[in-house]
Amino acid sequence: MSCNSWAPPEGRHSRRRPSPGTRALGYHWSAIMNDATISDCTLDRLKAIVGPRGYIDDPAGKAAYLNDERDLFHGASPLVLRPASTREVADIVTLCNEARVGVVPQGGNTGLVGGSVPTESGGEVVMSLARMSKVRDLDPINYTLTVEAGCVLAEVQKVARDAGRLFPLSLAAEGSCQIGGNLSTNAGGTAVLRYGNARELVLGLEVVLPSGEVWNGLRRLRKDNTGYDLKQLFLGAEGSLGVVTAAVLKLFPLPTDSATALVAIPDVEAAPRLLATLREASGDTITAFEYMHRACLDILVAYTDLGDPFEEAYTHYVLVELTSSRRDSGLRSLLERALETAFDDGVAVNAVIASSGAQAERLWRMRESLSEAQKNLGVGIKHDVSVPVSRVPEFIVRATRYCEAAIAGARVVAFGHIGDGNIHFNLMQPEGADVAEFLARGTEITTRIHDIAAELDGSFSAEHGIGVLKKHELERYKSPVELNLMRALKRTLDPNNIMNPGKVV
Ligand SMILES: Cc1cc2nc3c(=O)[nH]c(=O)nc-3n(C[C@H](O)[C@H](O)[C@H](O)COP(=O)(O)OP(=O)(O)OC[C@H]3O[C@@H](n4cnc5c(N)ncnc54)[C@H](O)[C@@H]3O)c2cc1C
Repeated sequence: MSCNSWAPPEGRHSRRRPSPGTRALGYHWSAIMNDATISDCTLDRLKAIVGPRGYIDDPAGKAAYLNDERDLFHGASPLVLRPASTREVADIVTLCNEARVGVVPQGGNTGLVGGSVPTESGGEVVMSLARMSKVRDLDPINYTLTVEAGCVLAEVQKVARDAGRLFPLSLAAEGSCQIGGNLSTNAGGTAVLRYGNARELVLGLEVVLPSGEVWNGLRRLRKDNTGYDLKQLFLGAEGSLGVVTAAVLKLFPLPTDSATALVAIPDVEAAPRLLATLREASGDTITAFEYMHRACLDILVAYTDLGDPFEEAYTHYVLVELTSSRRDSGLRSLLERALETAFDDGVAVNAVIASSGAQAERLWRMRESLSEAQKNLGVGIKHDVSVPVSRVPEFIVRATRYCEAAIAGARVVAFGHIGDGNIHFNLMQPEGADVAEFLARGTEITTRIHDIAAELDGSFSAEHGIGVLKKHELERYKSPVELNLMRALKRTLDPNNIMNPGKVV
């Protein structure tokens, strides 16, 4: 067997300029590259582990695995591995650890921070979990579902639904993201207010450690106080501490009734107070509470077929949804009564309550169309931050004031999962502005927005994680104690730095 080395093709070392709407990354590939060669012997042995159906090594076939969703990050690798079992994953990782080859776990590759594609060093293999898509166990009595990491989220939801149960994690990428990716990014989405992030939906995990050992933590227990909760280490770790191969997920009763309303509120300060009022008055049946500024409705009216549901224009809106698994729970009248209380308390001024499934769907479409519709305004400097729910108004007021003063004519588009304190705070270019000039202010603007979030005890990354895009922010906002703890964990579990090198820490 020859032992030549594979090196990335010429011209793949230079990173493309970030697309409009993203900021300069502030890191250097050279600082995060492993040894840029993998011997042919190692490649052959890796191929032998998975067999002919389990790898891709031709450039056309590899392309989809080496570039990210938004075509922002581009990596190089001689080999994409597609193992079909935990044993194969373990054998691959064992060999990579011995040969000091980086392993980049990949799910649906819908992550937005560059965590799922390799660096351009060529010293890493991509490990797609897509072939590991079996449902291992469904226990409707225990309200648990045990699935392999490569199951697509929409499929997991369907399996649960077919058994009369709900798996509540839901996000716009659910048709292609995988449960392993969701757990590794601690995904959020639209149902966090009621059910929590992905982290809170897991009872047990199976993980292949960087040593190649398999940790079988697939416990279906609601109570297990036996020392450290090890699964938490891997949830949200973005593949930097091991490969998640399977998980025991929590299920819930399937909702049978819902009530949806678009509520106009007098000012942004009323939003968290309205949430508190509605939670109490509705028996805590609120599943969604999504804020939209008037600028959002203007965009929807101008660029979609969704008109303004109100006759009058208001400045602030909240989309509210209640759900219940009780049949004939009378949610609509509960919502009406809860809104009456809100009007009396002065935290709501008007409301449109959906009187059919189609109307509810139309109200939801307003919220879901926003990301796409705002592109009509040109490029934007975007932020996805979180603060304690009670401090959301202060964040929006301070961040808006700062942006309007910093860039004359810039248009703030603020919306988001306000019930979780998560705001999408986007600054769109002034009409007719010079795009390059506008984007050149990106780092300065983003730093200030993230500083404001930090001053309000918030986070610069509410969803999506760190990947490579936000590594420099991690260093800026985490305390030395926290950073050292993270690095110590990484060194202990992965002393040879083979798991997703260059990502997170
Ligand atoms: C249109 C759109 C809407 C989105 N909406 C949301 C949203 O509302 N909320 C939200 O949180 N995110 C959202 N995202 C981001 C993305 O969908 C989530 O981060 C998702 O959880 C990623 O899953 P994935 O399978 O695509 O993972 P990938 O993108 O493949 O990987 C993400 C990270 O996880 C690691 N990883 C993947 N699988 C494994 C595994 N089995 N073991 C260990 N590590 C692994 C990768 O190495 C990488 O670091 C959205 C993305 C798009 C494109």
